[in-house]
Amino acid sequence: MSATDLQLTIFDRVPDGFLDCRPTELAKVLPGPSLIDLPGRHPQPLFVSVLLHGNEDSGVAAVQEALRRHGARELQRRLILFVGNIAAAALNVRTLPGQTDYNRVWPGTLTPHVPEARLARQVFDYAAARRPFASLDIHNNTGFNPHYSCIRRLEQPFLSLARLFGQTIVHFRRPLGVQIGAFSTICPAVTVECGKTGSVSSTTHAVELIEACLSIAHLPSHPVSPHDVDLLRTYAIVKIPSHASFSFDDTPADFRFRSDIDQLNFSELPAGTSFGRVGSSATRLEVVPGAELDKVEAYFDYRDGNIRLTQGVIPAMLTRDAAAIRQDCLCYLMHRIGLDGEPRPPGKARHVEV
Ligand SMILES: [Zn+2]
Repeated sequence: MSATDLQLTIFDRVPDGFLDCRPTELAKVLPGPSLIDLPGRHPQPLFVSVLLHGNEDSGVAAVQEALRRHGARELQRRLILFVGNIAAAALNVRTLPGQTDYNRVWPGTLTPHVPEARLARQVFDYAAARRPFASLDIHNNTGFNPHYSCIRRLEQPFLSLARLFGQTIVHFRRPLGVQIGAFSTICPAVTVECGKTGSVSSTTHAVELIEACLSIAHLPSHPVSPHDVDLLRTYAIVKIPSHASFSFDDTPADFRFRSDIDQLNFSELPAGTSFGRVGSSATRLEVVPGAELDKVEAYFDYRDGNIRLTQGVIPAMLTRDAAAIRQDCLCYLMHRIGLDGEPRPPGKARHVEV
């Protein structure tokens, strides 16, 4: 199917063959991007999106498992499931060449006229008209990261929903056009990052979240306490210029990153920490704002060809996966914040086990 004829198909039951289908085979079971709208005892739906990135399989595996466990019994809550980029899933890639990333095209996107944005708008309008109880967008990532959730609004219902997944919560405003950017305008919404793809523990964790959201009548109403959460905010997104080369094994390149860079995620890195070396004095990383919309601080200096942090920071999603770096970024840079949204001074250095 070409990007110009992206058709949304809506099912009112579980499509035949869906529950036992591997992500790479979904294109044989579904005609294209699909909404599966299943009734439940509580009519206000839970919205779940999976496979916005075609090579991130925990979401679809978790939904399949949750529905298998339920068998023929009616769900406790109506479930509206969006199965996104099955064409990319067939080839086990995040996004196909020529496609726009399915998680950059939701209302609020910078590219509202591409076919993927029209599809996302259709899905969003369908869900919004049915007043979702909550929204889950389920992803994997490629480096060594703890499981964590992301929220766009620092408000109690969003924190309560995120807390159902775990205590590590990232607040971010960029990039634009992400699923939770749109859904946060109509209901409590989280993106969950379930670690590396293909792991049973990733799927199990996502199943638990889906089942919790289907079974509870209300989100916990008691305020989330500062002791319950480890709250961080994305302040910057670090990209590699598209023309630049990079390596992780010290082979000559514009950026020669340290080989263990993907082990640094969620560590409190002090100023002076090296990310590696640059190949020439003119080579620079692109650092774009992740929080305040148009300003970003300097995070790196390049003295003597060394790429060093100029301030303490906590990175996320550092990866050695070249495709992920090219299509998304090298990493996100975060600082710890309080429930009031104010930055907190760095604590004792620690590393979250992943
Ligand atoms: Zn993703």
